[in-house]
Amino acid sequence: MKLLSAIVPCYNEEENVPYFYEEFLKNQEFFEKNDLEFELWYIDDGSGDGTAEAVKKLIRKDARVHLLSFSRNFGKEAALYAGLQKAEGDYVACMDADLQDPPSLLPEMFESLSEGYDMAATRRVTRKGEPVIRSFFARMFYKLMKRISRAEMVDGARDFRLMTRQVVDAVLSLEEYNRFTKGIFGWVGFRTKWLEFDNVERKKGETKWSFWKLFIYSLEGITSFSTAPLAFAAFMGVCFCLLSFFLIIFTIVRKAMFGDPTSGWPSLVCIISLISGVQLFCLGIVGQYLAKTYMEVKRRPIYLVKEEI
Ligand code: UDP
Ligand code: MG
Repeated sequence: MKLLSAIVPCYNEEENVPYFYEEFLKNQEFFEKNDLEFELWYIDDGSGDGTAEAVKKLIRKDARVHLLSFSRNFGKEAALYAGLQKAEGDYVACMDADLQDPPSLLPEMFESLSEGYDMAATRRVTRKGEPVIRSFFARMFYKLMKRISRAEMVDGARDFRLMTRQVVDAVLSLEEYNRFTKGIFGWVGFRTKWLEFDNVERKKGETKWSFWKLFIYSLEGITSFSTAPLAFAAFMGVCFCLLSFFLIIFTIVRKAMFGDPTSGWPSLVCIISLISGVQLFCLGIVGQYLAKTYMEVKRRPIYLVKEEI
């Protein structure tokens, strides 16, 4: 018998916990047919509602359900990492609690692994039910990442994946503090089969991602998986050096040929403010990387556990 572990990060998902369990159990026939046992890890990411209690209720009637509670909200990335550490399965699946990652796709994903793939990943091909601006920026982000990063990132990719033990160990070997899981999955490589599905709206509750949070998250993705912005800063520096070199020559020649009419105050102000703006911008880019390095060298734990059942 092989073991399949499912990891479900939950942040205030009290209402979705039992729904997810029910939906997951609908695969019972598939599990039996393929000689699979399963374990279900709910990772309670510091929820303020009754998420932990809801999971405990399930644990009382089904020993295959487990709970790991964090001491506070550490974010979905930390929850996924903790789940991957806890999971003992030969196959591991990461799934959202809100049923936006339909458990009914599991059989198809499992089939891909039987075909010799190491990982079955999912991407949604529609973004229906999502604000237009958000979809637009999401697309821009993936286009940009394709250019500036070597880690494969696919538009519409979800964190919903089924992996073999080998891939799980590879992902766990990346112990970085700034975890951008989408990038990490792409970075580790392995043969990945992409399955497509239409966007499903969340079952209960609200998304935890505001536009602003997503924006910050995308910066996280860029700085974690690309140093292109640093190169861009250096490039800007070179451009402005060249420009000022020509300006110096121009000024000297003009002085030699026409004397020094003391005009040019407005243009001077423009140039100074433009260049100091660019300088600050580039300094900001360097600062972002410095901040990441700072957090990384502290080597703080990625999460802290309050309770494990
Ligand atoms: N989540 C989490 N910690 C957080 C935010 C979210 O564990 O700080 C979980 C959440 O409970 C859900 C999954 O991550 O199971 C995806 O969150 P959400 O549905 O809010 O994101 P969306 O599907 O809108 O991208
Ligand atoms: Mg969701």
